[in-house]
Amino acid sequence: MSELLQLVASVGIGGLVAYCVWHTLLFIKPFLSFLFPHYYPVLYDVSSIEPQPPPPRSVIEETCRKEFTKFKVNGTKWDVIIVGSGISALTSGVLLSRAGKKVLVLEQAPEAGGCLRTFHLDGYEFQVGCHVLGLTGPCEGVNSFDLLNQATGGAMAFEKQDPEFEQILIRHKDESKTKLYTQRFGSQAVWEESMIAQFPKEADTIRKFTQACSEAYKSTYIVFVVKYLPFWLVRLVLKIGFIRKLFEYEKWQNLNTRDYLNSLSDNSDLKKFMACPAGYIVPDPEGSNMIVTGFIPKFLINGVFYPLGGPAKMAYHLVKQIQRMGGEVLVNANVAAILLDKDKTRAYAVAVESENEGSLVIEAPIIISSAGIWNTFERLIPREVSMQFPIIAEALRVAPPLAPCAPLIAWVGLKGTTEELGIKQASVWHLRGEGDFFQEYKSYLEMTREQVLEMEEVPFEWTLIQFMSARESDYNVRNPGKSVCMIAGFIKWDWFAEWDNMNLNERGEKYEKLKQTLGARLIHNWLLQFPHLKDKIDLINFSSPVSFTNWLRRYHGKLMGFDMNASRFTLEVLSAMRPSTGIEGLYMTGQEVTTGGVTNSCAAGFMTVGEILGRNLLLELLAMNWNKPNRDFHIL
Ligand SMILES: Cc1cc2nc3c(=O)[nH]c(=O)nc-3n(C[C@H](O)[C@H](O)[C@H](O)COP(=O)(O)OP(=O)(O)OC[C@H]3O[C@@H](n4cnc5c(N)ncnc54)[C@H](O)[C@@H]3O)c2cc1C
Repeated sequence: MSELLQLVASVGIGGLVAYCVWHTLLFIKPFLSFLFPHYYPVLYDVSSIEPQPPPPRSVIEETCRKEFTKFKVNGTKWDVIIVGSGISALTSGVLLSRAGKKVLVLEQAPEAGGCLRTFHLDGYEFQVGCHVLGLTGPCEGVNSFDLLNQATGGAMAFEKQDPEFEQILIRHKDESKTKLYTQRFGSQAVWEESMIAQFPKEADTIRKFTQACSEAYKSTYIVFVVKYLPFWLVRLVLKIGFIRKLFEYEKWQNLNTRDYLNSLSDNSDLKKFMACPAGYIVPDPEGSNMIVTGFIPKFLINGVFYPLGGPAKMAYHLVKQIQRMGGEVLVNANVAAILLDKDKTRAYAVAVESENEGSLVIEAPIIISSAGIWNTFERLIPREVSMQFPIIAEALRVAPPLAPCAPLIAWVGLKGTTEELGIKQASVWHLRGEGDFFQEYKSYLEMTREQVLEMEEVPFEWTLIQFMSARESDYNVRNPGKSVCMIAGFIKWDWFAEWDNMNLNERGEKYEKLKQTLGARLIHNWLLQFPHLKDKIDLINFSSPVSFTNWLRRYHGKLMGFDMNASRFTLEVLSAMRPSTGIEGLYMTGQEVTTGGVTNSCAAGFMTVGEILGRNLLLELLAMNWNKPNRDFHIL
């Protein structure tokens, strides 16, 4: 209550009334845009637009690799500068360009797109960070494809994947007990029945689990409330304890997945089978929680999709639109600092460091950072300055502790097409049959680097295998006679920390040996399931967590920003992770504003631009799609 009184004292009754009127307007505006769409041209009906054929690689490169030079940025009055060029940044750039703003996007890497990027090694095409897309969303009118189609101007088409998508191999020492399970997607009923068919005696347990997932997912509606309400109001409401109890959300957020599964069943295979899909984003057994466990099946339940032409095509269409509307997307442009005025209240410029061009300060009244909370408020702005602002201080205070684990990824190039190699679209998980999964994982992460190197066989396995080349029919048209696979495992960040922020050629032999030894184990286990691919291997390359700090400027190699553990989903964290920062002219976007995933990050772009323009673009989208259940999502 005292906060409310403080606010009234500081802004006066008139200020408070103005504030309330403004927020009421924010709510009404989407409906005005529905009635008078030509006054609000940021969103438009994309369902009748024909998707465009994938452009040749050379065209994508020409568009997404425009080199930063002083000449290209000097002399232009930029309205907005965006740090980073992942999907959230590019979506923000497109929407702001449509609103008439002159946008400059600056990317430190040699190609725009962030996780949407494709990279080529010895003639093999790999996709960095978009291997599956789900058809999901907070409500019927705003789903993942509404967002992606809107952002890309309807240029994309999406290929539906085999419904038997999620495969879980539980490997026992006694090979006869090793079993491959499948989760089939299409609808809640299809998913549930596919699980029951494999564990018929456990039908009740499975129904309880799927019901819990649905309820946990439904409870996440509160996330929009805490992100959209004014920050001071959310803090006030959260202090009033009983209000939390009105919602189910915290019940699920505090429910540890391991404990919940143990309470449901003693069947070890079943528990691994049910928990597995959540492994996409839960890297921490202690922090596993039913919000994420419930979210992932919901993400995949209506089917799994892949962008035709690959994710880089999405980046291409986003960049192209910004360029067409007078903006620039420039690469090899490392933003070293966000500059504040002398009162330290307003962001007015960024300092760019480029290998070829040296340093340059570029000014704009609006700056958006998609570089993540730690990078932005500890590296781009000094922490002690950031801490002066209540929203940022709260964000840094409540930021979830870093889980110890980090990714190790093997990128494998194979001779032969999808058909010739007999590979499937499925995501395949590998787990050990013996032992308690969570306990083994915990012990594994307690090991030292030396211990793990000495062991012949590590008593833990949790691997995700994706044959990305099988995901789209065009892959073998672009890459005749070739296939690729990504094998992702988890290791401990500490084992690699000493090489953080070093270039590859500075890391030396010790680094290489560690990476190769751990990586070889991934390949060994992978071949146990796919022995026929051994002779087809043409290329193997490993990425350690420090590769990701280099490529994507990831803090501690974290693939999706904050770990998806329970503390990341407290209402306090969710409310502090919002587009506004309290620093005038500075906004956040990206996977931490919403949560990890391509479509979530795209949604962050909508939220950030809405905040800048004083509109609610998600509600506007809902108003636009109201009563149009048969709109075309460009799904093949
Ligand atoms: C290996 C992997 C697999 C994944 N698989 C999937 C999947 O199958 N499905 C799914 O939905 N999601 C997946 N994700 C997650 C998803 O890709 C991300 O959550 C999402 O794309 C993040 O988008 P973003 O805009 O927040 O940031 P990013 O795409 O990470 O973009 C941030 C950009 O900012 C740049 N940058 C940072 N600091 C600076 C600076 N100081 N100056 C200039 N540029 C800077 C970085 O170089 C980067 O390009 C995966 C991610 C990874 C890494």
